[in-house]
Formats: sequence, structure tokens, C-alpha cells
Amino acid sequence: MKLRLSNVTRSFDGHKALDGLTLEVEDCGVLVLVGPSGGGKSTLLRVLAGLERIDAGSVEINGVPLVFEEKALLEHRRRLGVVFQSCNLFPHLSAMDNVTLPLTVVQRQSAARAKDTALFWLKRCGLEAHALKKPAALSGGQRQRVAIVRALVTNPQLLLLDEPTSALDPEMTAEVQDTIALLRAEGSEFVLATHEMEFARRVGDRFARVDAGRATELMGVDGS
Ligand code: ADP
Ligand code: MG
Repeated sequence: MKLRLSNVTRSFDGHKALDGLTLEVEDCGVLVLVGPSGGGKSTLLRVLAGLERIDAGSVEINGVPLVFEEKALLEHRRRLGVVFQSCNLFPHLSAMDNVTLPLTVVQRQSAARAKDTALFWLKRCGLEAHALKKPAALSGGQRQRVAIVRALVTNPQLLLLDEPTSALDPEMTAEVQDTIALLRAEGSEFVLATHEMEFARRVGDRFARVDAGRATELMGVDGS
């Protein structure tokens, strides 16, 4: 991926969640955002996702400027996969049905074709045995992986993940990490926010620290 954010500002009630944020990355498969709580990571992800307008500045994703108009934003959102903090799978649907939904509803694929695609990716991510379970019957790590599968089946240009391992124990964190590594190896690209340094180090190609609404690119996750 290639990202170019220039002087991006976004205020809420006079408080600058993003305060002239500038960040450029190129040739990056997994960009990890680290930094303190309240620093602006989630706001930045929502801006990239086309879910948040900005007050000033500019955003370019893979060379294409993000246009903050409703129609353009809608199209932009369709090209992305998003997994935000409270992984919001539909509780009344099985893992399989959660994953086929964006294919049948958004992409208007046939049920049979959507099922094939869903099964392929659920298998690929070691979730085949859980395909018919509802979210309540899955572990936190499995739920998060189903949410990632759901975000990627539409073949998005970029996957945005906000704290994908918060509330997961180390074993489940490792499962999510393996899933990200596998998908990355198959060509998916990610921007993800985390405050878990070990996780960041394992999955990230590049790191940016987002603090007080500004970003600094780091050489390594610990700033070295
Ligand atoms: P992080 O994800 O790094 O913890 P956030 O982007 O969630 O940081 O928040 C950055 C700042 O912006 C915080 O002070 C937060 O309270 C504020 N903020 C974020 N979203 C909103 C919102 N929708 N309304 C009001 N304040 C917000
Ligand atoms: Mg956050």
C-alpha cells in the first residue's frame, strides 16, 4: 500500500483528535499504528475507512485522493474491509452466514457462489469446523478471525483493523496473528491499531506512533 496523509485535522467539540497529522508510507503490507489511548488511532482508521470527515488536510490511498463527498465515500467504503473494536458479527447468524452476507447483499453474488468463497476462506483460516456455529458459540479469537474473513471476502484493497486482539488471551492473539500473516502472504494489506507491542512487532512491516493527533513513522515498533 501507499498512503499519504498531509496535515489532517479533525476536531470534536474543540478538541483536536487529529492535529495536523502527516504520514507517508510506501511499499508496506502491514502498517501498524501504536501509541497511547486517546492518541487518535481509531479516528485515523475511521478517516481511512471513509467513515469520518476531516476539517483540513488531505488523504491519498494508493495514489488516489480521498474525496469527502457522500457518493465518493460510499464507493470508497465498498473497496475496504473494516474490523472495528467491538467485532460486530450478527449474533443470530452462523459464522458462514456472517461471511456470505457482504457477498450476497453488497456484491449480489448467488448464494452458492458466496458459500463457496466463504468456505474457502474459512478453511484457509482454520475455521471450517466452526462454520455453522453462531458467534456466541465461538471463542473471542475465533470471532475476531471470522470478522476478519468477513471483511476480506469482498477482496478489499485494504483491511483496516482496530485493536484486533484487545480482550484476547495470548493464545487467541497468536491465532489472529497467524491469520494476518497468512492473509498478508496471500496479498492482503492491512492498517491496524494495537497497543500490544509484541503483536505489533510480529505482524508489522512499518510502524507509526500516533500521539496527540500527530503521527511519527518509527523504524521499529519500539522506536529504534
Ligand atoms: P485512540 O484510538 O488512539 O485511543 P481515538 O481516535 O479514539 O484514540 O480518540 C482520540 C481523541 O478523540 C480522544 O480524545 C477521544 O476522546 C476523541 N474522540 C474520538 N472520537 C470522538 C467522537 N466521536 N466524539 C468526541 N470525541 C471523540
Ligand atoms: Mg482506539
